[in-house]
Amino acid sequence: MEIVFATNNINKLKEVNEIAKVSGVKFIRPPEGFNPDETGSTFAENSYIKAADAAKLSGKTALADDSGLCVDALNGAPGLYSARYAETQELRIQRLLRELADKPNRNAQFVCCMTLVTPDGQILNQTTGYCKGHITDSPRGVNGFGYDPVFIPNDYNITIAEMDEQTKNQISHRGNALRQMLTYLSNL
Ligand code: IMP
Repeated sequence: MEIVFATNNINKLKEVNEIAKVSGVKFIRPPEGFNPDETGSTFAENSYIKAADAAKLSGKTALADDSGLCVDALNGAPGLYSARYAETQELRIQRLLRELADKPNRNAQFVCCMTLVTPDGQILNQTTGYCKGHITDSPRGVNGFGYDPVFIPNDYNITIAEMDEQTKNQISHRGNALRQMLTYLSNL
């Protein structure tokens, strides 16, 4: 089964295809021109906006995710604004560490919401995955992307950027949300 995955991020597409490898589902890129405005006020709304846009453009059922890092001591920030917290990823990490400098509570979680939408905009299924952990004092590791170098998942003592891809996929918010979606798809 081929499903459009509503992202322009090649790394994310690779990541979801790696997780879905054994399921028989293959995710493909959205058509040229896919560039929706993420104007929602929740991860769920934004994932719907992206999936609906890709499904309409392609004429095929599409899946989208929307994700972010929610930090307890910052009342859930950067959250929905994780990708826009500063201009570059290095600056986003620097800002996060600066804002947490005097905060003893470093607990945080990655959240990922996925929505599966038909070309006429109907929601078929929606799932949410979490990965709980804490923020380090400084970046470590070179794998992954985004805030991976400063996030240590619960039950680990290395950052996600120090893990291999397989380990990340087993515990990540995206892996978690996607496995729930794959279970839904396998029951269709
Ligand atoms: P989006 O879901 O592509 O809009 O991602 C939002 C932002 O959340 C990304 O640009 C990253 O900054 C952050 N983020 C989401 N998932 C991850 C992850 O697996 N690792 C690190 N950062 C992430």
